[in-house]
Amino acid sequence: MDTQRVTLFVDGRWTESSSGETIEVIEAATEQALGAASAGNAQDIDRAVSAARRALDGPWGKAAAEERAAVVARFAEALKARGKDTAALVSRENGMPISLSRAVNGFAPSAIIGYYAGLAAKTAREEIRPGMGGETLVRREPIGVVGAIVPWNYPQALAAMKIGPALAAGCTVVLKSSPEAALDAAVFADAATAADLPPGVLNIVPGGRETGQALVDHPGVDKIAFTGSTAAGRAIAARCGELLRPVTLELGGKSAAIVLPDADLGAFARGLPEVSFVNNGQTCHACTRVLAPASRYGEVVEAVTEVARALTIGDPLDKQTAIGPLVSRAQRDRVLGYIEAGKSGGARLTTGGGVPVGRDRGWFVEPAVFADVDNSSVIAREEIFGPVLSVIPHEGIDDAIRIANDSDYGLGGTVWTTDEEQGREIARQVHSGTVGVNTYGIEVNAPFGGVKASGLGREMGPEGLAPYFSLKSIYTTAK
Ligand code: NAD
Repeated sequence: MDTQRVTLFVDGRWTESSSGETIEVIEAATEQALGAASAGNAQDIDRAVSAARRALDGPWGKAAAEERAAVVARFAEALKARGKDTAALVSRENGMPISLSRAVNGFAPSAIIGYYAGLAAKTAREEIRPGMGGETLVRREPIGVVGAIVPWNYPQALAAMKIGPALAAGCTVVLKSSPEAALDAAVFADAATAADLPPGVLNIVPGGRETGQALVDHPGVDKIAFTGSTAAGRAIAARCGELLRPVTLELGGKSAAIVLPDADLGAFARGLPEVSFVNNGQTCHACTRVLAPASRYGEVVEAVTEVARALTIGDPLDKQTAIGPLVSRAQRDRVLGYIEAGKSGGARLTTGGGVPVGRDRGWFVEPAVFADVDNSSVIAREEIFGPVLSVIPHEGIDDAIRIANDSDYGLGGTVWTTDEEQGREIARQVHSGTVGVNTYGIEVNAPFGGVKASGLGREMGPEGLAPYFSLKSIYTTAK
């Protein structure tokens, strides 16, 4: 497969876009052209949705769940075989450090899709429920053609969180990849071909916002699964509301790391790179607000500052790199703008915040830490999507929970304490879809998603399979 020149994948075939237009993908670390992808438009979306519909109405839609599961498991294996190259390609597209990319782009997609193959094979498609009038036959049917729209930050894992349960449930998919990471999506097509996925079961159309809108609007789509910004999510939800089209939304975040007075600051500091700076801060669930006890405020600020200073900035393809470049010039400028807003808003910058010395090529930003941040300030409220943390003082457990919950978002969060039980009790009170106690790690078998402006619905676990089924009750007279 040529990942430098990628076309659409429709009905089991590589095909040029109807406009002939292309998207140039730029390498984040070098600002050089990495490759080009055909740019799909509404006409291409129509072709892809029609192919997905034909596949759904054909043998795929009628196959036994176990039969489909075997194909999906084969597809997962084919992705795994390509994992190493996929990881490097994504790191070049979006600047993700390769050590992380190997896990989330190289390994996770096959693990997620393989999990759903196994789960779907075990999920009963029909069950009998005795009732007052007679028995009811409750059926789980594939919901239909799924439109999946993904961002650039974790392009492979986020696509797998949609493709895996959709295919395992018996649906067919049109994936709209993002312009910044339009090349790696082709790996799914290559693996689908290798695994003999029937034509039309998985279709891929790279493109921008208008291409995504065409997919959301298309009358042949039965469900939308979206990951991206809250602004785009709101627009998509509004349109799906009009169309009465089921939709799941995984959106932005501004999560809090609650540090309690009894916390082991060494353990907290060791966890911080993954919890707060993961993927150069371009992570929806990153804990970008650190809530520090007033009694240990100076100590926590110092620990966070030390961690930020010690992160190795560099080439994302180097295994030693902890912080690579941001995805694009626009994203870098946006992040630098927030750092200026923090400074002019009265917060105290303790480290970083500039362009690292010697890194004038590639969109690098030095990890930045702000102390004395008010939770009502712009940098504490808005999702920055870069390596920028705010340390906010709290006056005890209730105050910490109040500040954590005083956010438009509710996606992630962590609690740091040597008393695990206390940590769980606080986690129960944090208004968020996911919370970690002295750790944070998304698990394939547990629901992931947000409350408030962080989204609607869940992915992963059995809860992530359910939205791809349509339920039907057949009432009978049988007793
Ligand atoms: P974005 O919303 O700009 O774009 C995401 C995708 O949606 C892209 O493919 C884009 O082309 C498409 N799109 C944009 N507007 C659309 C519209 N109106 N209709 C249809 N499609 C549209 O987001 P981004 O900048 O690419 O990604 C970063 C955002 O994604 C951040 O806010 C981040 O928090 C969020 N995110 C959330 C999760 C999660 O699971 N909750 C995971 C990763 C990223």
